[in-house]
Amino acid sequence: MRPSGSRGRGGNPPVLKRLGQHFLNDQRVLAEIAAALELRGDETVVEIGPGRGALTRHLVGRARRLILIELDRALAANLREEFSADDSVEVVETDVLDANIAELAGGPYVLVGNVPYYITTPIIFHALRAPVPLRAVFLVQKEVAERMAAAADSEEYGALSVTIQALTEPELLLHVPPSAFTPAPKVHSAVVRLRPRATPLVPPETAAGFQAFVQSFFGMRRKQLGTIVRSLEGVTTEHAQDLLRAGGWDPHARPETLSPAEFARLYASLRATN
Ligand code: SAM
Repeated sequence: MRPSGSRGRGGNPPVLKRLGQHFLNDQRVLAEIAAALELRGDETVVEIGPGRGALTRHLVGRARRLILIELDRALAANLREEFSADDSVEVVETDVLDANIAELAGGPYVLVGNVPYYITTPIIFHALRAPVPLRAVFLVQKEVAERMAAAADSEEYGALSVTIQALTEPELLLHVPPSAFTPAPKVHSAVVRLRPRATPLVPPETAAGFQAFVQSFFGMRRKQLGTIVRSLEGVTTEHAQDLLRAGGWDPHARPETLSPAEFARLYASLRATN
């Protein structure tokens, strides 16, 4: 535990690598992330991992309420101090994975975060639990952003693409080099915006089951659909092939050829028949 009030160089608390702390200093990128939220001024904004407040300063005054979720005690204390005069800002010192984001927001909300890369995917799925945000903008590792937005049959397409696209329409907005951060991460980053679909391809309350289903397919991505269904459903090859053909799928196709909508249809069909 860090003694309270301990400071690193330059008046900031020491950087905690285990919390994935890389602070963004590029004001142009920070302004673009804030602009990507398309704030009207009357919304509730939740920021995950505000850190030293670099992005927060671009958001203050542009939201009716601004809720900051930060796990690092010293950073949370600094944020509380910096924004103490502003009633619209609330600091919640907790692990975001333990927080009920929608409940904290208390109604419709917009979500933003330069999230720690060691738990990016769990944070994003946690954040997309029903009721989903109005829109979300995340700064993530470049490869993760590319996988989220990837089209079927491309190299980057996988379980993350399918499960994110079943709930949202992702847009890759901007690449951010390591030099934009202190300390610089080893990886490149990118800004991605997720707009929840008006009609999700799977009901958000079944998203966790759908995610596990899709992951099992991509865990066998070199295998044909017939083989995967046989193994997942514990049926004979003939039965698996019949199930697939009945829904119009080619049992010899590979999972990466199925679009997110096809995966959703397959999930509904297999869960209805078994
Ligand atoms: N938003 C700041 C910026 O752009 O400079 C900081 C970004 S830094 C990559 C990630 C931030 O998330 C850090 O402030 C870190 O302490 C915080 N963090 C890490 N794990 C967290 C968790 N589980 N819950 C909430 N915050 C977390």
